[in-house]
Formats: sequence, C-alpha cells, structure tokens
Amino acid sequence: MSPELLKNLLLGVVVFGFLVDKILSYRNVKRPVPTIPDTLSDHLNPEELLKSKAYQTENYRFGLLSGLFSFVLSILLIWFGWFGAIDSWVGSFVDNSMIQSLVFFGVIFVGSDLLSLPFDYYSTFVIEEKYGFNKTSIGTFFADKIKGYLLSIIIGGGLLLLFLWLIDQMGKDFWWIFWIVAAGFMVLVNFFYTAWILPLFNKLTPLEDGELKSKIMDYAKSVSFPLENVFVMDGSKRSAKANAFFSGFGKKKKVVLYDTLIEQHTQEELVAVLAHEVGHFKKKHIILSMVTSVLQVGLILFLLAQFIFSENLSLALGGTEWSVQLNLIAFTMLFSPISMIIGIGMNVLSRKNEFEADAFAKDTFAGKPLAEALKTLSVKTLSNINPDPAYVFVNYSHPPLLERLVKLEK
Ligand SMILES: [Zn+2]
Repeated sequence: MSPELLKNLLLGVVVFGFLVDKILSYRNVKRPVPTIPDTLSDHLNPEELLKSKAYQTENYRFGLLSGLFSFVLSILLIWFGWFGAIDSWVGSFVDNSMIQSLVFFGVIFVGSDLLSLPFDYYSTFVIEEKYGFNKTSIGTFFADKIKGYLLSIIIGGGLLLLFLWLIDQMGKDFWWIFWIVAAGFMVLVNFFYTAWILPLFNKLTPLEDGELKSKIMDYAKSVSFPLENVFVMDGSKRSAKANAFFSGFGKKKKVVLYDTLIEQHTQEELVAVLAHEVGHFKKKHIILSMVTSVLQVGLILFLLAQFIFSENLSLALGGTEWSVQLNLIAFTMLFSPISMIIGIGMNVLSRKNEFEADAFAKDTFAGKPLAEALKTLSVKTLSNINPDPAYVFVNYSHPPLLERLVKLEK
C-alpha cells in the first residue's frame, strides 16, 4: 500500500473509532429516565434518580468534549505529518537510534499527559466533587501523577528498551521472544501487585479479628477455599465509591475490601460480595482471563511483526525514512478496530462470568444479601439503571443491575 493510501486509512480508522464511540454514548444518554422498578423502591427515590441522570449527562458532555479534543488532535497529527516531524526533530539531536526511540516516546508521553491533565483535573475536582464522590486532595492527585510517571519510566521504559533491542537483534522473530517475556511479566505483576505496586498508592491493613472476619473465614471454610489474607484498603483516600477485589494466585492471593465498602454494607452483604469473588476463582475465571490476555498479547505481537518493518507506514505518518517508533504508533491506530472487536468479545465473556459468580454466591451463601449489596452500590455510585442495550453490549464488563437482580431474586 502506498503511503498516501495508508495515511487515508489511518484517518479513516480514527474517524470510525470516534464515531462508533460517540454514537453509542449518545444513544445511552438519550435513554429516558425510567420509572423506579419495584425491586429498587426501598433504595431509590425520584430525586436520586434524577440526580443520577444529571451525573450521567454531565459525564457524557465531558466525554464528548475531551473525546473531540483528542480526536481533532489525532487528525491534525496525521494530516500534517506531525508524528514524523517530532521524530525528525528528536533525530536532529540524538544519534543513537534506540535512544531516539526512547526520547520520541518520552516526548509523546509527556505531551499527551500534559494535554490530558486539565481534563483529569476537571473530572476529579469539578464533576466528582459536585456529586460528592471526590475525596482526593490536590496533594494526592499530583503525588499520584508523579508516582505514575516514575512507574511508567521504570516499567514502560524498561520493556520498551528490551522490545527495541530484540527488534534490532532478531528482526521479525522478536515477536515470540518478547511475547514470552511479556507473559512472564504479566504473571509476575499479578502475583506481586498487592505487595509491590498497590502500597505505592494505598495503605493495606489486615482486617482485624472480629465478627466480620470470622464470618468471612467461616464462609471460606464452608466452600473449602483457603483464605489467609483479608485486607482493608483506604479507598476513601480518593473516592467515596466502593469496591472489592482478589489479587494473585495460589497461596499469595489476597482479598482486598475497600474501607468504603465496609462502611456502606452489612456483614451479611460483605460476605455475599466475597462469595461472588470466590466464585470467580472456583469457576476458573481468574486463570482463564489471564490465559486470554496472554494469547491476546501474542496475537498483537504477531500482527505487529508483520507491519513493523514497513517503510511506507513511517512515510504515511510524515517520516522521511523507516522508523520503528512511527510504525508502532501507526500500528496501534490501525489495530484499533480489531482491538475494539476483541474488547467486545472480552466483555461478552466477562458478563457471562459475572452471572456465574453471582450464581455461585447464591448457591453457596445467599442471593438476597448480594442483591442488596448490588442495589446499594448502584444507587450510591449513581449508576445508570436503564442503559442502552447496544452501549451495554460494547462497553459493559458487568451485566446491568436489573438483569443481575432478576437472576439473584428468582
Ligand atoms: Zn465479579
């Protein structure tokens, strides 16, 4: 394909991705405010329902604005060959090609982060604040940014350097060697996430002995699920929104409950939430999603190997010669429709898994407290109880609340 044709293809892919996303969001926000279903009558009043609609509408408008901004920027970058211009500019003062790649990505990373900073700030300190979710201080906000930068430089930079070195040494064969390294890295992060990465951002304290802990332990024993580590995380440091998750495999696995979750729910409900999470383990969802992610990375790397040496791809982005960094950017854009399809497939699978984990919690503990917990979570986070089916199909990793309630309350 000629550079001209490739350039038009890149522009087309960016337009397509933007339109699909915004049309779906529009359909979703235009859904009428529903009447309150019987099952939610104890949890939701008309006032709160209108508040949740206002929150969703505000987020929609914000998403439209920030999406439009990055869309226009992407079009300009491609249209005027600015990626190529940045690459040539970096090349004018860096001789070594590997260092040139690193500096190029550094410039792109810092540039895009600075441009998105006002949007992040507005989302946290204006929208989330207005609806009472924000608990982040300005200090925490910027400390998070700096820690995120350092992690990106160390982990992202390290992986990128290895990637570039492998391309240089192995040619097209780089993909499967890098795949093995990436797979090992993914398993490692999963193992040590709560030990190494999470503590950089949050404080984890073991759940103290007491009624809640013994109820959790009794349940774990009843389904013969070895559980040694239950932690409480200070989620309230950033947001009033609550969550719970498992991390790691085998003996290293930990369950983490947000302090906000413990505040908002009864002990019955908390055990039910835990039972749902245990369901994900027992039904092998955790290991399966790990395997699918590894396969996905393999597929991406294999496809990347077919494109990474194409000179025309670099020229399409305004480069003057073959450049691995320009091709990486071009590939990411070209791949985006495929990654959208993969994402939809993953969401379909994830929604099925959520139903299975719900069913597990219902069978081994009880459906009603889990249903109650989900209602409280949904109402407290001002979630949409009447989402557009097409939007759900593409974007939801969890089934809509009412669908889950139907199964839990049957
Ligand atoms: Zn789940």
